[in-house]
Amino acid sequence: MAEIILKDVTKIYPNGFKALEDFSLKITDKEFLVLVGPSGCGKTTILRIIAGLEEASAGDVIIGDRRVNDVLPKDRNISMVFQNYALYPHMNVYENMAFSLKLRKIGKKEIQEKILNIAGILEIEDILYKKPATLSGGQKQRAALGRAIIREPDIFLFDEPLSNIDAKLRTQMRIELINLHKRLGTTFIYVTHDQTEAMTMGERIAVMKDGIIQQMDTPENIYKNPVNIFTAGFIGSPQMNFIKDSDKNIIMGVRPEKLKISSVEPEESSLSLDQCYVEAVELIGSEKLIYFDCNGLKLISKVPEDIQTIKGNSYKLYCLKKDIHYFDGEKGEKLY
Ligand code: ATP
Repeated sequence: MAEIILKDVTKIYPNGFKALEDFSLKITDKEFLVLVGPSGCGKTTILRIIAGLEEASAGDVIIGDRRVNDVLPKDRNISMVFQNYALYPHMNVYENMAFSLKLRKIGKKEIQEKILNIAGILEIEDILYKKPATLSGGQKQRAALGRAIIREPDIFLFDEPLSNIDAKLRTQMRIELINLHKRLGTTFIYVTHDQTEAMTMGERIAVMKDGIIQQMDTPENIYKNPVNIFTAGFIGSPQMNFIKDSDKNIIMGVRPEKLKISSVEPEESSLSLDQCYVEAVELIGSEKLIYFDCNGLKLISKVPEDIQTIKGNSYKLYCLKKDIHYFDGEKGEKLY
């Protein structure tokens, strides 16, 4: 049972910086949770506190049914995969994977069986006898995963593990990690600043800012019902359009796919904008992004690829009332 609870955790670093204050979070057993947020919001601090690499200044860290604040990292049965992989450079991949098992005095034959089994899953049989320095980023990543998996931990912690590999391999590795999670049936906590990664990987996402969880829910619910401007703007690519209604001190948010182009405005439309000039068009497969300038207001519309617009021409844009998110202009919270 690897449910994780952080209860009122505060972290003050030795230089006096308070990275977390009364932070609480509950991660369900076997869940794939993604912590996402901009650089410096405290994601890594949370992972390191769960792993025991940092001590909480106050509060409780509970794994399963025990409080682990005073349990050493090696006794928490957690594996952590880092951005820089942290492979032992003087050992080849096989030795890197064998290391923790040797410490546990597991026999050579059993170690070999385990390594070959995991090497098969990760398709790294051909690099087992290579040193980390001779591997590509993707190979290092797999080797680091292999070393983490072999310990058969209750919990995997991932700290931006895919940020050093190229875009194509990254997409592939995301899918592999999702499948790995299904196969292993363990709790995964995955830290990233990349919202696409969060959206594609997390069963639930916790969106963070300044040490505080802004919203925690499924990717779909966060996308459809962001609770504030920060979450609305952070999740979704391209970003949600924001239009200020200065009279009412309200900010209206419209997803690019909900901002339509038409000469005829439908009856139920509640937002329409005239004189929106096409600045640029970007083809993204079966869809297009159209970048508009409406009297200085920059807006993006996502439309099917067959919609034709001419750069420099002006169009009328509209949005249906049901597709508008209304936020408080000052506090940023969702109004209705
Ligand atoms: P990134 O995506 O850049 O890794 P993060 O969200 O993981 O960011 P943390 O690394 O948890 O953020 O850092 C949270 C805050 O705590 C930052 O303001 C950071 O500067 C600060 N911080 C982290 N480690 C220390 C430390 N050892 N001493 C002092 N301040 C620290």
